[in-house]
Amino acid sequence: MVAGQVERRLAAIVGAVRRPAVSASTDSNGGHGMNASTQRLIAAVAFAAAFCVPAGRLAAQPTPESMIAHMDADGDGRVSKDEFTGRRRPFEDFDLDGDGYATRDEIEAAFGTRRGMTPDSAAGQQGGEGTPGALSGRATLRELDTITRGAFLAKRVREDEIARGLIESNLIPEYPGDASCPRIDHIFGEPWQGPVSQRKSNATRHHGADIPARYGTPILAMANGVVVAKSGGKNGDFRGKQITLRHSPQESGLSVWLYTTYAHFSKMPEARIGQHVRMGEPLGPTGKSGVSSLRRQEHLHVEVLYSTSDRYVATQYGIVPVDGRYADVVALMRARMPLDTNAMRALPDAERHITIPHKLTGGATVPSDALIIWPYACESD
Ligand SMILES: [Zn+2]
Repeated sequence: MVAGQVERRLAAIVGAVRRPAVSASTDSNGGHGMNASTQRLIAAVAFAAAFCVPAGRLAAQPTPESMIAHMDADGDGRVSKDEFTGRRRPFEDFDLDGDGYATRDEIEAAFGTRRGMTPDSAAGQQGGEGTPGALSGRATLRELDTITRGAFLAKRVREDEIARGLIESNLIPEYPGDASCPRIDHIFGEPWQGPVSQRKSNATRHHGADIPARYGTPILAMANGVVVAKSGGKNGDFRGKQITLRHSPQESGLSVWLYTTYAHFSKMPEARIGQHVRMGEPLGPTGKSGVSSLRRQEHLHVEVLYSTSDRYVATQYGIVPVDGRYADVVALMRARMPLDTNAMRALPDAERHITIPHKLTGGATVPSDALIIWPYACESD
């Protein structure tokens, strides 16, 4: 702890010395014929000597905190390409998702360390003691290959998205005849009227499915799982208030690690990161947080990702599984493998009609042995 603080302070001092004359010219303490940079150099060497730590080694290994402290000119907690003053490694080494900013997480990942990382700080939200081991599998951005980055992070590449299953599945949900369930109105993979643009664009696809429901209707966990991310404390965020669950192969009965994300809650779900939830458990009330259009009604945006790897990264764009794939929530309702969109598109017509497993408002599950259900309860007629 103390050693870490010393290291950071040293790196900060050394970093200041290494910076160009900007700080020296604004320094009014300069005097005695010695410029500010020289004074700082002496101070740094003296400070390093006092703690028997070679200053050179520290300069080579700054911490994410010292890097941000020295480069983040506008104080937004991250380093933009313009702010970046490093010489040893290019900016691109740190901006792992290519969005023009190096965040603390990215810098830490670029250094190859995850010191002091907690699930909460990574997901940016809420507390949570959870169950020990519940969050095993957390990975760093470095572990994401090029296609996964192109499919899930900033500057998405359409070819990579398609390679990872983001395209219409052509599946047809069959809702129960003797009960009424909230139904999909905007399907997975459809060319998407984004929150900003009013035009349909072939370049952007709907990453999930939308299911309208009355304001406040409880949104249900689709399977047993663990909360791995929550975000959207402010309504202005793109997806609003959202939560992501992870479901092990044992929990879903599928041979993959599954991630289900539920968005646009009217109130932040109470379940903490690391907490276990049960299939059919209410996660929170339906709303339209993050929905920019006044005309659009309250709805659930539900998104399904999966991977054969149990590893995943919590990014500012949400959870990204290592070697992750997109799936249509309707494909998930088949409750068997494969989930893969191309395999769905290749199904014969007769197999494209998918009966929706669900929970009734009375509490019964249909079928009774279901491990995966619709994210809304259905009302018996
Ligand atoms: Zn949506």
